[in-house]
Amino acid sequence: MQRYIFFILFIILIFTTGCPQQEKESDKINVVVSIMPLAEFAEKVGRDKASVSVMVPPGASPHTYEPTPGQLVKVSKAKLYVKVGSPIEFELAWLDKILSANKDMVVSDASYGIELMNMAHKHHHEQNEHSHTGDDPHIWLSPKNAKIMVENIYNGFISVDPDNKEYYAENKKSYLEDLDSLDLEIEQLLADKIKRRFMVYHPAWAYLARDYNLKQISVEEEGKEPTARSIQFHIEQARKQNIKVIFASPQFNTEGVEVIAREIKGQVVLIDPLEKDYITNMKKIARVLSDVME
Ligand SMILES: [Zn+2]
Repeated sequence: MQRYIFFILFIILIFTTGCPQQEKESDKINVVVSIMPLAEFAEKVGRDKASVSVMVPPGASPHTYEPTPGQLVKVSKAKLYVKVGSPIEFELAWLDKILSANKDMVVSDASYGIELMNMAHKHHHEQNEHSHTGDDPHIWLSPKNAKIMVENIYNGFISVDPDNKEYYAENKKSYLEDLDSLDLEIEQLLADKIKRRFMVYHPAWAYLARDYNLKQISVEEEGKEPTARSIQFHIEQARKQNIKVIFASPQFNTEGVEVIAREIKGQVVLIDPLEKDYITNMKKIARVLSDVME
């Protein structure tokens, strides 16, 4: 019994000396996320109660980025980590290390409940190529998936801070409404398009294409620079399908597509799969896609 009381006193001592000090430093919940769009989603749900930082910074690619020691320090102070959860290289390579920097952190899997698409790369122009079987990591690029991701992030928040469940629920509801209007706007924007195809360098838009009945023709295959044959093939494709614009991501070198654009007397237009302001960015992208489709 005595020992028990001593133990209770010891616990009280820890809480009265350790914790309040920390709480004063910041009342906000530290959240770390893998990529910029997840930072946006987490901020929309957490609002004033969350301080969100991102691992893959603006301009960097989640296919190649490596975290810094400073970022791992941030992780060690976080309560919640939001991972994309799809097989994106950054997480495949680094997530174990990130999570081992903080064993108490709750991990929210934003992809939970999202059906992953296969990277169906067909090598129509090269005879004895192998086919790529990996799952497509770019799940956030369809507003329909974004809504599921926001739900998952909300569940992460209420598991680390259940007292503020209603606050997070309100925020979530309002952002889901915004995502619904975005969804509707994209639907309407593309409603009377007949030729529902677009050509891109890096194939980040398969989920968007699936959800809005579009066809993504990608120049890059399996993350490799296009070969001369592949470039020739896509020049012919573009001519056949009357394509004048080739989309590229700012995170990638666009040399290969510029060759194609020159040949078809078209142009390269950049669209960013990782911009933070998700809704504004997706509207902009839907508009440029709509412009190139007849
Ligand atoms: Zn990508």
